Amino acid sequence: MNDRIDPDLLMPPVPLRDSRGRELRDLRISITDRCNFRCTYCMPKEVFDADYPYLPRTDLLSFEEIETVARLAVAAGVNKIRLTGGEPLLRRGMEKLVAALAKIPGIDLALTTNGSLLAKKAQALRDAGLDRITVSLDGLDEAVFQRMNDVDFPVAQVLEGIAAAEAAGFANIKINVVVQKGVNEGEILPIVRHFRGSGHVPRFIEFMDVGSSNGWRMDQVLPSAQVLDMIDAEFPIEALGPHSAGEVAQRWRYRDGGGEVGVISSVTRAFCSTCTRLRLSTEGRFYTCLFAHEGFDLRALLRAGADEATLSAALEGLWTARADRYSELRADGKGRTVVPLKRIEMSYIGG
Ligand code: SF4
Repeated sequence: MNDRIDPDLLMPPVPLRDSRGRELRDLRISITDRCNFRCTYCMPKEVFDADYPYLPRTDLLSFEEIETVARLAVAAGVNKIRLTGGEPLLRRGMEKLVAALAKIPGIDLALTTNGSLLAKKAQALRDAGLDRITVSLDGLDEAVFQRMNDVDFPVAQVLEGIAAAEAAGFANIKINVVVQKGVNEGEILPIVRHFRGSGHVPRFIEFMDVGSSNGWRMDQVLPSAQVLDMIDAEFPIEALGPHSAGEVAQRWRYRDGGGEVGVISSVTRAFCSTCTRLRLSTEGRFYTCLFAHEGFDLRALLRAGADEATLSAALEGLWTARADRYSELRADGKGRTVVPLKRIEMSYIGG
């Protein structure tokens, strides 16, 4: 379907390296700070209410500006672009952005969604050139799912979205499940049973202290090691290697050939040493870590008419000076002392 030039045939640019030698490989682009869910670990309703100061439309990067930044990042080594939000499918006409980005040679283009609008949009996203989809699904039990998304959204509609994505040609769909101890750990095995043999891959994510609003406590974290033990007890599993350097999920396969399952263990098994991710916020700020508290305002340069050389130099300066390692610091018990300031919200820069 995509007649894009095979990335392996292209002479890829030499990626920028940060102060710890980590390559710039992944760009996560948040295209809206709005969402139709109020997941308690990301956009708690009490904070993100009707009076919350969402970004005015004029503050958002236009699709053309996003494409300019994406091309800039690809020239600096990025070969994976992920569209996020808030809920990216809420941004009107975003298929046009997908089509524009899909024309950039040498990239793998992915999207993370809560699945609420996927049934309607899956085919158009595929036709526009999207390569991969990740769907967030924190439970199959209606009550648990609605307790997590806090807007009483029916789980069936998300499952319909996953089915529509599959029908549109998306394979190996990643299913992200944030596990909050005492809330949805009872959903781990039902989700495993549901997706075994489907080709789609559930990934269980340790609850993280992202942003400054979700009231995170360590005793709400169910360590991935325990999640894997639960799965292994019913479906014996064995470890697999990463698809690529910097992959966040640890991959496991069912010994009986029933497919794959993964865990993302930012709290108990920090992966900062291989972190290759840069984030672009909805209104054009670069963030070099999910747990950052300040970003670099690229939009100001863009709207001041800066030329490509100036923009590239800005990106190079930012990445080569990068030293972020928040999860490692948290693991050493230094997280909140070293990064005490108000952190940006995940709904603003995408997970
Ligand atoms: S905490 Fe920051 S540096 Fe570490 S893996 Fe996450 S985004 Fe990367």
